[in-house]
Amino acid sequence: MVSRYVRVPIAELPKEDRTKGFRLIEHPYTRGEAVIEGQRCLQCEMPFCVQACPITQDCRGYAGLVGEGKFTEAAKLILSDNPFATVLCKTCYHYCEEDCVMGSRGSPIAIRHLKRAALDYGASALTYVSLPPKHERIAIVGAGPAGLMAAWELALRGYSVTVYEREQFPGGQIQTIPRYHLEEPDLSTDLARFKNLDVHFVYGKQAGVDFTPEGLLKEGFDAVYLAVGANSPRLLAVPGEHLPGVFYALHFLLDMNTGTSPTGLFGRTNRRIVVVGGGDVAMDAARTSRRIAKDGQVQVIYRRSREEMPASREEAEGSEIEGIHFLFNKVPVRVLGTDHVEGLVVQDTALGAPDASGKRAFQIVPGTEQTLECDTLIVAAGEVADTKNFAKEYNFSTKKGWPEGPAPSGMTGIEGVFASGGKSVVFAMGAGSKAAEEIDAYLAHKKGRPPTLRPDPFGGQGSRKLPAGYGGPSWHL
Ligand SMILES: Cc1cc2nc3c(=O)[nH]c(=O)nc-3n(C[C@H](O)[C@H](O)[C@H](O)COP(=O)(O)OP(=O)(O)OC[C@H]3O[C@@H](n4cnc5c(N)ncnc54)[C@H](O)[C@@H]3O)c2cc1C
Ligand code: SF4
Ligand code: SF4
Repeated sequence: MVSRYVRVPIAELPKEDRTKGFRLIEHPYTRGEAVIEGQRCLQCEMPFCVQACPITQDCRGYAGLVGEGKFTEAAKLILSDNPFATVLCKTCYHYCEEDCVMGSRGSPIAIRHLKRAALDYGASALTYVSLPPKHERIAIVGAGPAGLMAAWELALRGYSVTVYEREQFPGGQIQTIPRYHLEEPDLSTDLARFKNLDVHFVYGKQAGVDFTPEGLLKEGFDAVYLAVGANSPRLLAVPGEHLPGVFYALHFLLDMNTGTSPTGLFGRTNRRIVVVGGGDVAMDAARTSRRIAKDGQVQVIYRRSREEMPASREEAEGSEIEGIHFLFNKVPVRVLGTDHVEGLVVQDTALGAPDASGKRAFQIVPGTEQTLECDTLIVAAGEVADTKNFAKEYNFSTKKGWPEGPAPSGMTGIEGVFASGGKSVVFAMGAGSKAAEEIDAYLAHKKGRPPTLRPDPFGGQGSRKLPAGYGGPSWHL
């Protein structure tokens, strides 16, 4: 008999098939497997899983419903809290599972994978319904998960929402997630449920260049939410970085998914690609490179040791399985080449004691220069906010990477303009949800009415109800 403490295994694409293309690595549960996994959930009175989720998704509730084979009810419950569940059921970093009590006894409930089963097997082609129109207009700048979540929250409450986006498509950094993790139609599947909401998209318009947020207020918008993310790659700042053949992971991955490939890397064999960085974005760049470099070689260099590498265990192991070579304790010093990249000079690092943040400082070891021959260099050294086109009166804080308003509400130095973002899809959604609540509270106060609670998004009576023993930011009494 199978132990209740052991997770129903999630089948995966055979290792030898993974680098042949971009097929999803994780296979879905069958209905029967999902029911057995759902039945493992203890239905805890105090659900730590729900508390750990940045959008307080009622995962206890849907795990129980899946355990009873009620996939349609589970799908509706999921979509009541989470308008981007089709995206998250494959990409979320499942913070809920870290805190699931079953983890201390065996393996946590496969909460994210049960979400996928509910949406696959339940009737999930639902349509959101809003409250009657308030005749107030909100502008959102940035169609990433923070902006889209705010659009959902505000439109449900009866606001008219216009989303301005500099690209020609929605999704923000969701569009950089490789197709072996997220399939192309998934975001559109989620957005199709918005069809009856008063949300309009204006593409190809960049704030700070084509318009300004304060200008939108003057035009008659009642509030503006800036959700522009951390969208500029951090540079290596070494000689030769300007050479053709040097790419930034953010651009490279976006180009791979949106069909334009200025890298010219598709279908070329015998490539020698070096990726600089040790986070999940570096792993995405390396694993994507592995799939397009055919018989070539992909190496990752990281400045600290394997133990300190920030990439998740799944991503690091997945990269190793796919034949990516790692070189640890190395930093780039200069890029070689005349009219194209020909190599990267690196030097060894020596690690010291951990600092206050727990990270070990490193020093470059003199006399350890080594040249890695390569024809392509992909830089994945992090992403930073780009606020150069915005007036200083916004008084943004950018220490988390994206621009945020300095007030606890997220309001910037310009009244009526709010700004925030998040370190992952679901954290950005949590930020967008909070921004929408703050904007609603700000306008309610200004116009002398009570704030509007998030209504039942499928047109039922009342607002979302609190699960027993739990209170959190997006649950309303
Ligand atoms: C390669 C990669 C893989 C990732 N994989 C995952 C994953 O598997 N799971 C996960 O949870 N998270 C993942 N993340 C992180 C996640 O995608 C981000 O944390 C999240 O998208 C941030 O959301 P956001 O809305 O704050 O910003 P963004 O997603 O960056 O969206 C900001 C939007 O604003 C637009 N914009 C910027 N400036 C302007 C302007 N001036 N005017 C108009 N529009 C503007 C941008 O074009 C963009 O569409 C990944 C990130 C990257 C880069
Ligand atoms: S959205 Fe993410 S953190 Fe929240 S319940 Fe789903 S998998 Fe867990
Ligand atoms: S913590 Fe784990 S066992 Fe408890 S309700 Fe959440 S998913 Fe179920």
